[in-house]
Amino acid sequence: MTSNVDPEEIAHFETLAARWWDLDGEMAALHAVNPPRLHYIQQHAGGATRTLKGKRVVDIGCGGGILTEALAEAGATALGIDLAAASIKIAAQHAGNRELAVDYRVVSAEALAEEQPGAFDLVCCLEMLEHVPDPAETVAAIATLVRPGGDVVFSTINRNPKSYALMIVGAEYLTGIVPRGTHDYAKFIRPSELARWARAAGLVPKNVTGLRYNPLLKSASLSERDLDVNYLMHCQKPELAPTPTPAP
Ligand code: SAH
Repeated sequence: MTSNVDPEEIAHFETLAARWWDLDGEMAALHAVNPPRLHYIQQHAGGATRTLKGKRVVDIGCGGGILTEALAEAGATALGIDLAAASIKIAAQHAGNRELAVDYRVVSAEALAEEQPGAFDLVCCLEMLEHVPDPAETVAAIATLVRPGGDVVFSTINRNPKSYALMIVGAEYLTGIVPRGTHDYAKFIRPSELARWARAAGLVPKNVTGLRYNPLLKSASLSERDLDVNYLMHCQKPELAPTPTPAP
């Protein structure tokens, strides 16, 4: 087990577990952003063919499996992990009801990294880093999980006055689109910080793209220019350098 977990965060998500698949409920924003974020993953981590078919993927902090199911539907062999057992139960039930082949486990990224280093072609970690005590440690575990030459996609929330106004004041207090207490401004992450942690873990940041959500229209889109609030980052783990042949 890892100490890189905030029990209050897990308790918060446990209380929301039954709500994961209510499209108009507390998770409506995650459902709305799911198609553009899946598109982003396919475009950036799907190789030349832009496909996830046959890729071994792990979704870190998967919650009820909103993204994990979409990854499986796109042809990936998907594993979702989360430390909120109630969410994993809902996720497994939901995929089971749809007869969708997805594996779910209650395990930390760090423990899975010890168990299966280099086992995944793609690691996704969306909207999770801003909920852990030491996100750089999670990034390092993710860098261990991905195989050399594989891909990582993160998403999180930028830290600036606009993201405070929209994500805390607007989303949690004025409109209640996001349940109060879901986010802590101090844990928001600037793209430069995430890129630094990724590089320190041996990953190479390749692209950063904004993810915009319009709560009135319940619509979402990618934006190359607007990284102010939510954003996605694609990184790659370099291929192993060829081992030099010993001199005769
Ligand atoms: N990735 C999903 C859910 C995001 S909500 C999506 O984007 O649709 C954040 C999730 O992170 C919750 O399910 C919460 O239980 C999980 N989480 C928080 N801290 C965690 C930790 N230390 N290890 C694993 N999961 C964690």
